[in-house]
Amino acid sequence: MLSTMQDFPLTLSWVVKHGMTVHGRTGQVATLTGDGVTVRRASFAEVGRRAAQLAHALRGLGIDGDQRVGTFMWNNQEHLEAYLAVPAMGAVLHPLNIRLPGQQICFTANHAGDEVLLVDATLFQPFSAMLPYLPKVRHIIVVGDFDLSSVDAQGKELHSYADLLEGQPETFDWPELDENSAAAMCYTSGTTGDPKGVVYSHRSVLLHCLGISLGDAIAMGSSDTFLPVVPMFHVLAWGLPHAAFFLGASMVMPDRFLQPEPLVKLVQAERVTLAGAVPSVWGGVLQYLDAHEEADWSSMRDVIVGGSACPRSLMEGFDRHDVRILHAWGMTEMSPIGTVARPPEGVTGDDAWRYRLSQGRLVSFVDGRIVTPEGEVAPWDGETVGELEVRGPWVTSSYFGVEDPDRFHDGWFRTGDVGHLDPDGFLTLTDRAKDVIKSGGEWISSVDLENQLMGHPAVAEASVVGVPDDKWGERPFATVVVHEGQSATPEELREFLSQSSKIARWQLPERWSFIEAVPKTSVGKFDKKVIRQQYAEGVYD
Ligand code: ADP
Repeated sequence: MLSTMQDFPLTLSWVVKHGMTVHGRTGQVATLTGDGVTVRRASFAEVGRRAAQLAHALRGLGIDGDQRVGTFMWNNQEHLEAYLAVPAMGAVLHPLNIRLPGQQICFTANHAGDEVLLVDATLFQPFSAMLPYLPKVRHIIVVGDFDLSSVDAQGKELHSYADLLEGQPETFDWPELDENSAAAMCYTSGTTGDPKGVVYSHRSVLLHCLGISLGDAIAMGSSDTFLPVVPMFHVLAWGLPHAAFFLGASMVMPDRFLQPEPLVKLVQAERVTLAGAVPSVWGGVLQYLDAHEEADWSSMRDVIVGGSACPRSLMEGFDRHDVRILHAWGMTEMSPIGTVARPPEGVTGDDAWRYRLSQGRLVSFVDGRIVTPEGEVAPWDGETVGELEVRGPWVTSSYFGVEDPDRFHDGWFRTGDVGHLDPDGFLTLTDRAKDVIKSGGEWISSVDLENQLMGHPAVAEASVVGVPDDKWGERPFATVVVHEGQSATPEELREFLSQSSKIARWQLPERWSFIEAVPKTSVGKFDKKVIRQQYAEGVYD
């Protein structure tokens, strides 16, 4: 029997149309301008009209199907316009990771087949070195003031974003698209090798928008003002800009001003209620807040932390400022959000820590299971550890143009993350499979060691990797950054670690290095690949 319901495909034109009408007057986008202090503003209605103009302009450049339109941009209003226009007109949005080495940026743009690129004027200088290596790109649209006449475009057509939009109609007849067609694509940040592409569908993006916005997840709505610090090239800024536009949450865009001071001031001035970034960003913000008692963050409801495990010390630090950290876990391959760590209703005080420090509860539409090293599916008992596998409508079923059968089996995606699930669906990760330290046949969790170390008052950052050991196979090696003006010794830190009930004596690292900064990936995570490599090269001897 068929239903009596109307049949509407779940496509991003819903986001554009709903956001610019229903939230057209109340939804606002504020973007930091070149002085890093003042903002320029546009209503959602204006942003929607400009998205329509962009769609017309792109049609004029020959984008009439599922061609890829790349962006090389900061988080700003024009990037949001591209987020809306490109998928809704039927093309495929591909935000390029501006922090990757040039060679990898070209690799991802060429692999995706980008034909048009939108580039921020402030990024044009570094970008221009890549021009000769982008054979498929036909058009480059420069966003912001830039003297185009001085550029050798290497045979590509250069345009100014403002000129291209000028005079275009402010409405666009958004086409009816198949909800399973491609809307956007992102590449993994390459922590585990060459970046691999994931292609999101209209349906997956839209369902993700709704799923992550539910009360037990991020709970975003029209009364929120959201600050995406997480770059829009990193898994579509965790899917939050599309969700915010759909649901009417105003947005505050930091552009290139990602240091603690402008961020803290922006939150205060714009009365931000929600913000998202990786832990290393929030570590710097916390130091700034600690040093500036006058900073007013009373508007902030939840600071979303994901991308790597959030140390307890960071949560406690923000608690001191009455700001709650909401821990979330996800992956490029899953749009990205898989879990959000809200303690169950009624659980408070010390009991709440168990939940806050977990990666969180599986969100609606994400199914998970733990598979033990013996290949058994483990019970959700909060104890049995194995690799997490996931499935659901916003989890990818393959990579774009590359076979990687090891990551997929039986309809599930193998995350490469190791941990356990409890009877209420709360996930606790102990490590990434490749980062687990295998010592004498037993496992040591690098994440547990790091989180405990970062709880020491003198420690600003700590990363632990497994290094070869003749006797044990592998042993932990800790790189530590101490706060300015403070000091710590390996003996003190070993003593501190041994006080934790999570860490056995045989797990304590005997190899240590005190360094200026832990190497980071293009999205701000500890880069363990680099640390292991540097260790092998004797950099830490
Ligand atoms: P890459 O795989 O290139 O680092 P992603 O940003 O997709 O790119 O990273 C996903 C991985 O990041 C996850 O598989 C997991 O290992 C890690 N991760 C993300 N969020 C968390 C978290 N809250 N706690 C621990 N690890 C996390």
